[in-house]
Amino acid sequence: MTARLERTRQHLATLGVERMLITTPSNVRWLSGFTAPEDARILINPTEAVLLTDGRYIAQAEEESSLPAVIERDWMGVVRDRAKGGALGVEGDHLTMATARRLEQETGLTLEPHDRVLEPLRIIKDAAEVDIIRRAAQLTDAAYAHVLTQLRPGVREVDLALAIEQYVRTHGGEGMAFDIIVASGPRSAMPHGTASGRTIEAGELVTFDLGAKVDGYCADMTRTVAVGPISTEHRAIFDAVLEAQERAVAAVRPGISGIALDAVARDSLTEAGFGKAFSHSLGHGVGIDIHEAPGLSPKSEDVLEPGMMITIEPGAYLPGDAGVRIEDLVLVTEQGGEVLSSSPKAFTDVLAGA
Ligand code: ZN
Ligand code: ZN
Repeated sequence: MTARLERTRQHLATLGVERMLITTPSNVRWLSGFTAPEDARILINPTEAVLLTDGRYIAQAEEESSLPAVIERDWMGVVRDRAKGGALGVEGDHLTMATARRLEQETGLTLEPHDRVLEPLRIIKDAAEVDIIRRAAQLTDAAYAHVLTQLRPGVREVDLALAIEQYVRTHGGEGMAFDIIVASGPRSAMPHGTASGRTIEAGELVTFDLGAKVDGYCADMTRTVAVGPISTEHRAIFDAVLEAQERAVAAVRPGISGIALDAVARDSLTEAGFGKAFSHSLGHGVGIDIHEAPGLSPKSEDVLEPGMMITIEPGAYLPGDAGVRIEDLVLVTEQGGEVLSSSPKAFTDVLAGA
């Protein structure tokens, strides 16, 4: 944590920022380790960095925060007293206009908005973060293996989602990184089909997109499986998506851009006749936030570096019919990429051999 503050100070210096107020919860957590960041902010002055929170968190701040805590309901008053006039950098992509106006009135400081101020630092995960995300990925794999044992015709999507969440919460997870997607039959064509009351039938594809949250960090994985024999058309979608996914994973390496990596999967799906059915971007960075930098899309000029944590998740969707998505969590290494998701992704019919 001390190293993170040091890097932040250096970065602020390059931006010409002397004093900065950090309000984005994931940034507050990243800098301090405090687990109630929605009710806290961090003031960085040339001579100090303090966590500002209120009386509900005296014990928790003491126990968790690597920064000294100032417990005071009137946190704007604390900023006024400690910043002592002049300019204050703020997170323009988080602070609301209403809060900014009040902050200016209460402190008399001139606010200078900066966007994505910690993004260039958080984009590279340190060893401790990689270790936590690795555990989140392992728990996600275990929850997925567990839910597969319950997948059969007649169960509802929502019951499977509940089984996943119960598994995660009773095996050391804080909860889910995002609403669990269980999308069966025609609903599998909805990339964001969160679990519904729909009953799964034989001969359908089912897509699971899930991620455990462990110690504040997210995992993210998607698998699509068949429940009984499926049509050759649906099998063709599956094979095309798996091929595209494997090609993109193999192409992960330092120096490749988000655009180039996205194109690997997109070209592969286009070759197979499903280019137009791939209706979203290839992937995203993962950390404290489920979606963070870098972006992997036809528009993202982000370039991969060792220590980045990304997802590779091509999909193909035929509205009203069926869809397939396969997603792995991948750590960018000096050599290429290390896949942290270890759930099997080859075509699986859960009823075969049952
Ligand atoms: Zn996902
Ligand atoms: Zn994802």
